[in-house]
Amino acid sequence: MKVLFMNEREVYAQLEMAMCMDLMRDALATLARGEAVLPLRNMVWLPDRSGLLGLMPGYLGAPQAFGLKVVSVMPGNHGTGYDSHQGVVMLFGVRHGEPLAILDANAITAVRTAAVSGAVTRALAREDAGDLALLGSGVQARTHLEAMLAARRLRRVRVWSRTRANTEKFAREQGARHGLDIEVCADAESAVRGADLVCTTTSAREPVLLGRWLAAGAHVNAVGACFAASRELDSEAVARSRLFTDRLESCRAEAGDFLLARGEGAVTDDHLLGEVGDVFLGKLRGRTGPDDITLFESLGIAVEDLASAHALLARARESGAGQWLDWGGPAGV
Ligand code: NDP
Repeated sequence: MKVLFMNEREVYAQLEMAMCMDLMRDALATLARGEAVLPLRNMVWLPDRSGLLGLMPGYLGAPQAFGLKVVSVMPGNHGTGYDSHQGVVMLFGVRHGEPLAILDANAITAVRTAAVSGAVTRALAREDAGDLALLGSGVQARTHLEAMLAARRLRRVRVWSRTRANTEKFAREQGARHGLDIEVCADAESAVRGADLVCTTTSAREPVLLGRWLAAGAHVNAVGACFAASRELDSEAVARSRLFTDRLESCRAEAGDFLLARGEGAVTDDHLLGEVGDVFLGKLRGRTGPDDITLFESLGIAVEDLASAHALLARARESGAGQWLDWGGPAGV
């Protein structure tokens, strides 16, 4: 029996953003149809809370994928050469439960998260949206720029990040990569004022995006705050928006942006309109007019990793990408 191993470089080479955006739209639609099993993730914190290990198992009905992601989240990695997320995605056969593939989770997480935002942006942002504000300059900022370029025709890109040198490095490197002139902003407000696409991709625990800065008609992808006690958005930003998420259960348990706004009395449970999978299926209305502010609260869920892993396994079978290692098991299989 052979098991596929795919490292970070190979995953980046095979998991193209545009393809992954379609995969994510389809996987979230499958979830919304009820054809998935998705428990809440389990997190084990280091005693000093400098990092955690997250266990994210699941089953997706179409494409059929069964497995889990095991990922450490180490915010202190930024600038060390190690990504903030380190781990593996494992796929198992549904008939015999045998391991099929072990894939780098850093690259899968980097691409699939932005691909979800890209697919959601296509569905929720105004057709003419093209003035992008990126908050943060790390891995997710990089892949979100790529996803926003795939989702809309960008006419302006501004970036702000906490550390000025990182903001400048991001603008220089990503500007050269995409042939763009990326404006470096001294503060988050200067990046966001007038923007119609906003991506928050920071590890901030306190708001970096204030609702009073948001222009009418903007679409926001809120990606960075995946814990109940962390937020990137203030209550006004949440209250002014039509709020959607990837998974209701996750949002109610893990989304500090929503939970802290609710705790402050700015919104009630009804403010959370539903899952983007239902928007993709046409069962839930996204934007109702050009002046709506739409907000996608991204928690990141296992079906996104499984759908990505499934596609990578198919690619490897077709093209020979990755490495196939002998796992033992029954003879002749
Ligand atoms: P990186 O470590 O690569 O980048 C982190 C960014 O956050 C940097 O730009 C850093 O700014 C900024 N930052 C860190 N602390 C603060 C702070 N206190 N205030 C303001 N900015 C801060 O991380 P990633 O890009 O990999 O991930 C970004 C966030 O997204 C994380 O919180 C991560 O957990 C989350 N995430 C969410 C996923 C989802 O599915 N929703 C999936 C993957 C990640 P600077 O460098 O300028 O100091």
